[in-house]
Amino acid sequence: MTTEQAKLNAFPVFMRVDGQSVVIVGNGEEALAKARLLSQSSAILKIIAEKPEPALWSWIAANRPVHIADAYDAAQLHGAALVFAASGNEALDRRIVTDARAIKIPANAVDRPDLCDFFTPAIVNRAPVCVAIGTEGAGPVLSQMIRARVDQMLSPTLGRLASLAADFRERAEALLPRGSARRRFWRDFFEGEPARALEIGHAAEAEEAANLLLARRTAAEGHIALVGAGPGAEDLLTLRAQRLLMQADFIVYDALVPEAVVAMGRRDAERLPVGKRKGCHSKSQAEINDLLVALGQQGKRVVRLKSGDPLVFGRAGEEMQALRDANISYEVVPGVTAAFAAAAEFELPLTLRGVASSLVFTTGHDLKGETLPDWGRLAISGATVAVYMGRSVAADVAGRLIEAGLSPDTAVAVVENASLGTRRLFHGTIADLPALEHRDELSGPVMTLIGDAVAGANFANSEPLTSQRALLAKTAQGAHA
Ligand code: SAH
Repeated sequence: MTTEQAKLNAFPVFMRVDGQSVVIVGNGEEALAKARLLSQSSAILKIIAEKPEPALWSWIAANRPVHIADAYDAAQLHGAALVFAASGNEALDRRIVTDARAIKIPANAVDRPDLCDFFTPAIVNRAPVCVAIGTEGAGPVLSQMIRARVDQMLSPTLGRLASLAADFRERAEALLPRGSARRRFWRDFFEGEPARALEIGHAAEAEEAANLLLARRTAAEGHIALVGAGPGAEDLLTLRAQRLLMQADFIVYDALVPEAVVAMGRRDAERLPVGKRKGCHSKSQAEINDLLVALGQQGKRVVRLKSGDPLVFGRAGEEMQALRDANISYEVVPGVTAAFAAAAEFELPLTLRGVASSLVFTTGHDLKGETLPDWGRLAISGATVAVYMGRSVAADVAGRLIEAGLSPDTAVAVVENASLGTRRLFHGTIADLPALEHRDELSGPVMTLIGDAVAGANFANSEPLTSQRALLAKTAQGAHA
């Protein structure tokens, strides 16, 4: 798996079929399935079925499409917007598709993907709203599963709400300036009182509520959401984070935030990378604070995306202080912090009955001073220690802890790129930890977990910290010195 988005071989579009004819050729179940699907549209359905099977026959009787009870003939396709070959006979299906293509009509042959110019999606129909699901042949079971979930998410009255929106669109555009005021109106429209009134079937009240919303026309207020993007895998994002991303005007994100998460934002949201990765050009923290305040003052809805959890080594404290000082509203949305993702990779219980009952999040950068920081003592008393940004101080961390009395045999687990396809896992003891500094091939973020509980991890997918390669590198360095 890579983080790069795979390309679609079939691109979804919504095709106009109102008042146009759509032809289905076939007598059996496949033709019936397509007839049912297409009858959800306002297309004029034309079924070419010389001898319809009983189920198709009764469907035709009940739904009254145009029925041509003749053998197939190419002339029957003329003027159609789409053609479906559902004869069940490969040679005939091929002929139908060839005939359709000859007169530039896109064709679909049921269960013969090679012959298809287009595929039909599974659909969730809330006309005029429609969600179409395509899998390019991964199969109907998958699309039906997705369909069922989407169906649950969308109110049955969504279609009526969308129709009401269409009635208001012109007025909203005339009265509200483009941008956040207009977006705010629509958000309140779709999520507020008009939606609630329609849900309980009060159409007149819904319209009145929409009129009120339009008349109020208050200036939009800015809002900043400090959002945890999780450790890297895009599906470790919370649903709340995703919803806020879809509403954001601005997405301000750090270097470690996965691209796929940034991409989940509203399509026309502005995206501002602010760096903060070792060695990369980036904005200073003060500049970021000022930026957030300025956006808030302009009435923007901002998602400030941070990797992992925003309150763990994320400098969110400074950003929240700046927002409070400027009286701008904000909220915090937690995320999966790197230590949790790293523990999951190793199936490692961070707390373990009788072994470890506390958990320390640290950076190791505070070990430079004279005295051992508090967490050093905690480590010695059995806490599990998660070291963030610890690769370059690995030797220091190990040396100081051993010096202070931690057993050199204490277990250590290290993971680069936790939760991503590019993950690499290592294990050893704290005596081995300095080897981490010689692993120059590690270019991604690295998490180190130390403690007695770590010994209970699953090391099946990890290599020793002091594997041959690292040792060789170390020796080579020694030889140069
Ligand atoms: N707020 C973040 C931490 C930011 S500090 C969080 O809660 O996770 C950046 C450090 O986090 C990195 O140096 C590394 O130690 C750790 N980190 C972030 N993502 C990681 C990942 N996918 N795998 C391993 N460590 C990671």
